Amino acid sequence: MAVACMMCAGQMNAQEKKYPEPAQMSPEMTEFWTPQRKVVTPGDIKTNTAPSDAIVLFDGKDLSAWTNDNGSGDAPWTVKGGVITVKPGSGSIVTKQKFKNFQLHIEWSVPKGMEGESQGRGNSGVFLQDKYEVQILDCYKNETYINGMTGSIYKQTPPLVNAMRPQGEWNVYDIIFTAPIFKEDGTFLYRPFVTVIQNGIVLQNHTEILGTTEYIGHPQVTPHEEGPIRLQDHGNPIQFRNIWIRPM
Ligand code: MG
Repeated sequence: MAVACMMCAGQMNAQEKKYPEPAQMSPEMTEFWTPQRKVVTPGDIKTNTAPSDAIVLFDGKDLSAWTNDNGSGDAPWTVKGGVITVKPGSGSIVTKQKFKNFQLHIEWSVPKGMEGESQGRGNSGVFLQDKYEVQILDCYKNETYINGMTGSIYKQTPPLVNAMRPQGEWNVYDIIFTAPIFKEDGTFLYRPFVTVIQNGIVLQNHTEILGTTEYIGHPQVTPHEEGPIRLQDHGNPIQFRNIWIRPM
């Protein structure tokens, strides 16, 4: 009987005491209008033009945005008919400008008739911030170790699929890169992340990069600031066109 009375008293208190109700939400309370976004005119795939706010790294004319391997002179690769071709043995080429976070667009092709197997056929690569290689390889009916395939983060993360077009056709890379942030002791506070899309197909989905992409040995962690884009001379005359980048 006593217990029942105590419960009654508790219910009475709950009914009597009033607390504030949450304010009524209206649709406008979660709709933000400023600052309005900058207008960017998209590029045209048919005419190989870049978005209006992109930095054009190659528009078909010359290699004025690039230097040779060590930055001491002009980029030595061949430009003809709106296309760059790797000059085997001349070394990699490197952008004059350095970048942090970006969206990179680059088209590449393995010329018809290129022979070889595994890593020996159609090898090149795109080095992000001069340190992290997204592999380029002729993987059309050409098997190799999977963390060395086209679209791999070289010797780290294989691509999700093989989206290669055959020799003589153009492959399109769209690469979205978030730069690392380092602690004072030189280790990662945040590792770099990359998304790689080839020919409209996702190969890397916000993949964490462990460190530099080494041919021999484990990834290294080397503190750095902004870095250039490097295209690799791996002894094969890979072709490039329509290269642009949008810092973010
Ligand atoms: Mg390579």
